[in-house]
Amino acid sequence: MSLIVQKYGGTSVGSVDRIRAVAEKVRSVVLQGHQLVVVVSAMSGETNRLLGLAAEISADASAREMDVILSTGEQVTIALLAIALQNLGCDAVSYTGGQVAIQTDNAYSKARIQNIDSAKIKSDLADNKVVVVAGFQGVDDSGNITTLGRGGSDTTAVALAAALGADECQIYTDVDGVYTTDPRLVGDARKLDKITFEEMLEMASQGSKILQIRSVEFAGKYNVPLRVLSSFDEGEGTLISLEDDDQMERPLVSGIAFNKDEAKLTIRGIPDQPGVAYKVLGAVSNANIEIDVIVQNVAKDNSASITFTVNKAELSSAEALLREIAEDLGAMEVDADKNIAKVSIVGVGMRSHAGVAATMFQALSDEGINIQLITTSEIKITVVIDERYLELAVRALHGAFELGNTDETDV
Ligand code: ADP
Ligand code: ASP
Ligand code: MG
Repeated sequence: MSLIVQKYGGTSVGSVDRIRAVAEKVRSVVLQGHQLVVVVSAMSGETNRLLGLAAEISADASAREMDVILSTGEQVTIALLAIALQNLGCDAVSYTGGQVAIQTDNAYSKARIQNIDSAKIKSDLADNKVVVVAGFQGVDDSGNITTLGRGGSDTTAVALAAALGADECQIYTDVDGVYTTDPRLVGDARKLDKITFEEMLEMASQGSKILQIRSVEFAGKYNVPLRVLSSFDEGEGTLISLEDDDQMERPLVSGIAFNKDEAKLTIRGIPDQPGVAYKVLGAVSNANIEIDVIVQNVAKDNSASITFTVNKAELSSAEALLREIAEDLGAMEVDADKNIAKVSIVGVGMRSHAGVAATMFQALSDEGINIQLITTSEIKITVVIDERYLELAVRALHGAFELGNTDETDV
């Protein structure tokens, strides 16, 4: 008998029929003798609908109330699934995040899980119940409802699996695993049977929205075996696990991630002196604006320029702040560009191989795509390009690293 945590995303519970199908799937696992905790998202489109309702009343709703409204989406689904399970003769009980005591900090809309009191769930499991838990939500020290950021149900599932010492955490979604890149963009993207935590973390943090970043961090930290599978089809899905040296030789590049949600800011003509980068970037991050790619250059006249990217939603506040700093530093100009995209190639195999960057840059050059910024880590190379060329760039790189299904790859 294993203890399994399963998570079903929005499309997997997108209608009453889909919820019935999930209940059937859950029951079949129970009949095999396993203990099950099921985490569900809101029905697809529901979180956006709730965001829209609040936006009709105020463009500036308080973060606390936004979390109260957003958490209702998942609350509906847990009850519907528990009812569907009971209808099938399966003993089930549903809980909100607060009820199972998923304790978080008080950062509304991006709360982090701090502690989970698993006693109640364990006792229900011992009574042979299926425990259905609302994803994406928790409760802070004062009892306020919090949410974990978009895609946060993945994190609820992995955190529960870690707290319960589950044998596996299974993320059921609308694709049958993790692909070399988003199969919605590249038709011949290939499903991976296995990927390391480290690679998955880079893929997620570089924009691949298949798993929320925090969920992969949790899985890596607590070594929770994590699997991504389709709720619509059968199959083994993709296993995300620690790197295994005995594995056959790894490909140089395992996948390509991209992100259209960032914008680029540049401040030019600032002094090339100690403390200037801190003055510019420190002020932005003190304003709680997350900075991603950073590049600094020094011109012939010894003046420096700093370019960095932020989330598009925070561009206007970051730009306003940068203009204030520019005045302070006597900078020449500040530039903002929303029309950019970030493309990253990821692979543990590139650690020990030179030449990966050259292949990447050649593929982009062959398509006439200009690279605006470059940043690297041990297992990733990221470029910032004009948003218009995103699709072309991803396809070109997918081909250049021969990531497609072998029968379709150009030789
Ligand atoms: P859920 O609602 O189940 O959480 P998401 O929409 O959050 O589902 O994530 C699944 C989607 O992630 C897929 O439909 C796919 O378009 C997208 N995706 C992005 N990158 C990848 C990738 N590398 N492999 C598979 N799917 C990906
Ligand atoms: N319902 C939330 C969202 O749409 C959380 C999730 O689906 O994981 O982002
Ligand atoms: Mg998701």
